[in-house]
Amino acid sequence: MVLVKQRKLSLGERFYFKTVLVGLAYTIKNMFKKKVTRMYPEQKLDPKPSFHGVPVLVQDKDGNAKCVACGLCEFVCPPIAISITATETDRRIERTPKVFEIDMLRCIECGYCEEVCPEEAIVMSQEYELTGDSRADFRWGLDKLLVPESKLKPRLDYIRKMYHRFRADPKKEATAASVTTPTKTSIGVPGIKPHAALRRYGDNY
Ligand code: SF4
Ligand code: SF4
Repeated sequence: MVLVKQRKLSLGERFYFKTVLVGLAYTIKNMFKKKVTRMYPEQKLDPKPSFHGVPVLVQDKDGNAKCVACGLCEFVCPPIAISITATETDRRIERTPKVFEIDMLRCIECGYCEEVCPEEAIVMSQEYELTGDSRADFRWGLDKLLVPESKLKPRLDYIRKMYHRFRADPKKEATAASVTTPTKTSIGVPGIKPHAALRRYGDNY
């Protein structure tokens, strides 16, 4: 058993005068400071390129999706929000999504889809206001997801900068490749090479 000795409070402490005065002084001091509260929704947020809004698909100059329907984003998406049906195309990329849907009610805006995409075809937008009357309104198809590349330039520039920062040192990669034991390049599983998207983290992954 632990005995706790109770300290005897002074008269001032018992009537909370000092504490109330300190609280009032703090309130009065802050009343005249510049207001930092944003009057949303009249005052909109001005998102920075690092902001994670909802994911969207990049549309090239010809109006086509840059997506090659590889399915990597669908595979990594933690809440299984993405569904893709691929089709063939006569264009250079050969495959393209016939159906590409993201359930925005499931999406947690984690950005994994953007990270794994080998084509820079899906990026986090600056869109954060989603409204709808039914669940179906939040299932975004190609008609809503495609956004011209020019509008997504700030985010694309940002992710390229970040990828460069995380890219493994070429000298370090060459040394790792020359090591005969496979554990260095296998994310802990001997004989299995990590995907290119993971390799950019180098040995720190
Ligand atoms: S941001 Fe995350 S949750 Fe949303 S679609 Fe991409 S991987 Fe899925
Ligand atoms: S990872 Fe990129 S290229 Fe592959 S399906 Fe997703 S958006 Fe398309």
